[in-house]
Amino acid sequence: MYFCCFNNVSFAVNASFWEQIKEPSDEPVQSIGSYANGCLAGAHALPVEGVGYQVIRPERARYYGHQASIDFIESFASQFQQQTNKQLLIGDMSLAQGGRFSFGHSSHQNGLDIDIWFRLEETRLSSDELADPQAISLIDEKQYQANESNWQDEHFQMVKLAASNPEVARIFVHPIIKQKLCNVESSTNREWLRKVRPWWGHHVHMHVRLDCLGVTIAAGLKLFLRLEMVVVKNSRVGSLRKVSRCLSQRVINRKQCRSCQSSV
Ligand SMILES: [Zn+2]
Repeated sequence: MYFCCFNNVSFAVNASFWEQIKEPSDEPVQSIGSYANGCLAGAHALPVEGVGYQVIRPERARYYGHQASIDFIESFASQFQQQTNKQLLIGDMSLAQGGRFSFGHSSHQNGLDIDIWFRLEETRLSSDELADPQAISLIDEKQYQANESNWQDEHFQMVKLAASNPEVARIFVHPIIKQKLCNVESSTNREWLRKVRPWWGHHVHMHVRLDCLGVTIAAGLKLFLRLEMVVVKNSRVGSLRKVSRCLSQRVINRKQCRSCQSSV
């Protein structure tokens, strides 16, 4: 049984099948299936505190991910702290073997989705605060505009830094935040904004999604494909090849996910 809170109302929910599994599987790390219908073999746990970040609500044990997600958070948080002197709060990642949460999201299933809060702190939160953290929203829902008293320059830096990482496929933020980012970007470098997608909710955190192609294949093959993508970067053939490889990877993995579910 879990207690969760929505609009300050707390209620009990039954743990999902996946929430009852407490340990990662003893296999090589692999994201299986898709972001909203999959699971995760050989997950790694993000340490609940690291350079430039803390994990909120650690008792939910949603701090597992593909090794690529752990590497991304550790390097992103450290870089962000160097640039801004601010600490990040890491929200939901994935369960020990991925799969569906009993409440909150339908994605986050294959270890490649990460929620990072917009509340930025210079000092560490206490364990009590981490267990029941207060969020800040970047929008004024009634006026349907950005909440300027909560908006900081660091929010722009935070989303831009994450979107500029080649491992990142998408970042979901509220449509008002996307609009604000587009307005604030004054340089000619606007390419990163393509990765930032408007999505309802997502005004107290950004949802970072890593590229399924980039992280589900072996490092050597990954490097080969990256080089190949550079060569064919602007050709249609190149992007078609990328999509078809990603899809075939998912089909193979979907079968594995079924066997993974029946063996647990
Ligand atoms: Zn999310």
